[in-house]
Amino acid sequence: MAGIAENIVRIRESLPAGVRLVAVSKFHPVSSIQEAYDAGQRLFGESRVQELLQKTGQLPADIEWHFIGHLQSNKVKMIVPFVSLIHSIDSPRLLVEVDKAGARAGRVIDCLLQIHIAAEETKFGFTVEECEAFLADGEWRRYDAVRICGVMGMATFTDDESRIRTEFDTLKRFFDRAKAAYFADKDFFREISMGMSDDWPLAVSAGSTMVRVGSHIFGNRVY
Ligand SMILES: *Cc1c(COP(=O)(O)O)cnc(C)c1O
Repeated sequence: MAGIAENIVRIRESLPAGVRLVAVSKFHPVSSIQEAYDAGQRLFGESRVQELLQKTGQLPADIEWHFIGHLQSNKVKMIVPFVSLIHSIDSPRLLVEVDKAGARAGRVIDCLLQIHIAAEETKFGFTVEECEAFLADGEWRRYDAVRICGVMGMATFTDDESRIRTEFDTLKRFFDRAKAAYFADKDFFREISMGMSDDWPLAVSAGSTMVRVGSHIFGNRVY
């Protein structure tokens, strides 16, 4: 496998303008993140609170940290002071917790609604129907310390490209409906976070604005 810097450059060069690369550094050491940083990467994604906290202290302060994993309510307050974007709001309750913690920290926290588009049952997220009901309910409009900036989804882990494509299209269509119905005048509602190491080119062609790539940058994770 090529080096981290090479991988970053190669992927970035293939992304259309306006699509951002989130380098998913979970389970990889600080030295690997530093290598990516030295290649110009500033946007990193982590999926565990404890690991994220350990890493932030050892790395440059101008890194933009995104949280992409399942977030437990009791850990929200630990990341809210510095996190740039939470991709993984998977329940109304979690959004409430982030709002409360954001208010306490004096910040407005950018968030994405995680939509369950895959066939696998283990993945977290709202179903499309649940998320439609959540948006229609309108309670979220009262949360001043969060800003809903778009949606996130993960496709089924499969070789069947047409299936993956269908799932990404489902997320894109949901985004378009939500945008039209609730966020038409909100410029910040513009993110569709989809695409990982094996499927990001498909995600980009389906309208992704943010791809989350881990192993194709850093190599296989050591669990
Ligand atoms: C680990 C992870 C990724 C990156 O996965 P790779 O297949 O290594 O690119 C992307 N998104 C989420 C939510 C993840 O947990």
